[in-house]
Amino acid sequence: MKLHHVGIAVRSLEEALPVFEKLLGSTAVHQEIVADQKARIAIFQVGESRIELLEATAPDSPIGRFVAKRGTGIHHLTVPDLAGSLRELEQSGIRVVDRVPRQGAENKQIAFLHPSSTAGVLIELIEEESGQG
Ligand code: ZN
Repeated sequence: MKLHHVGIAVRSLEEALPVFEKLLGSTAVHQEIVADQKARIAIFQVGESRIELLEATAPDSPIGRFVAKRGTGIHHLTVPDLAGSLRELEQSGIRVVDRVPRQGAENKQIAFLHPSSTAGVLIELIEEESGQG
């Protein structure tokens, strides 16, 4: 499966940035506030993929609710071809919640994998669009 980026929800970018700088041996290539998602993001380039750290700027935001409910951790994986990725994953024995992409927030195409076949990690796949997010 081709991966564009992994989105990781964090409580605080101020706290997480130095940790990921050490882990990845580089600094964030991009930081921005996404006002309509009420989130601050920082992006690290890792080989051909990226890691996106997301911090809520308000508790009543998608990231704020995710962190309150599930804690910090993997929030989503973004792929260039969601339908193709779902087919490949099903063929390799991964159980999916959504067999075909459905519309998620902000008109993005999304699908969830079933935690029973992803080591208990709830993973949302999002089809990549041009630009960040
Ligand atoms: Zn993302």
